Amino acid sequence: KEELNIIQGALELRTKVVEEVLTPLGDCFMLRSDAVLDFATVSEILRSGYTRIPVYEGDQRHNIVDILFVKDLAFVDPDDCTPLLTVTRFYNRPLHCVFNDTRLDAVLEEFKKGMGGKSHLAIVQRVNNEGEGDPFYEVMGIVTLEDIIEEIIKSE
Ligand code: ATP
Ligand code: ATP
Repeated sequence: KEELNIIQGALELRTKVVEEVLTPLGDCFMLRSDAVLDFATVSEILRSGYTRIPVYEGDQRHNIVDILFVKDLAFVDPDDCTPLLTVTRFYNRPLHCVFNDTRLDAVLEEFKKGMGGKSHLAIVQRVNNEGEGDPFYEVMGIVTLEDIIEEIIKSE
């Protein structure tokens, strides 16, 4: 019974798209690029429990410019009040994007290939062509390997 569910889940990767499993931007734990890695910020990061934290510029949560890995904090002393940018510039983690309509089997394949940096997290964007102006890319949220595995093993 369990096996059947998993097979079912695996087959459904071909019919589901990223948009159905993403974590919406509003629910993402992120940092402003001008943040300072003082005790309060580092505590907040550790308390969030996430390993990868998108970094956005200005007041625009859509404008994701970097990813901070929690392990990048290993050599950061909160007493030094290091600017977040110093750390993200040093590690320069690659930012991966997928479109909202990408099928889950394709994303899984990308994650398996390591996507260059073995990140297992991608920024989900869509083309927004509502409204008068030119179409533009709009960030919808994030998707991780975990979100896809969840689809495979969830029993209904
Ligand atoms: P790991 O399991 O590698 O320690 P993690 O626990 O930080 O990583 P995942 O296991 O990849 O994260 O994902 C668990 C869930 O949390 C997924 O639904 C994913 O979309 C979501 N998620 C991952 N990072 C964040 C974040 N920074 N803010 C909000 N949600 C996140
Ligand atoms: P513009 O033409 O507006 O200057 P650009 O050349 O900067 O755009 P594109 O290469 O068109 O950028 O891609 C825009 C975004 O879409 C990038 O973040 C890129 O990573 C992402 N992207 C491009 N191709 C794909 C793809 N096949 N799947 C997922 N994401 C993609």
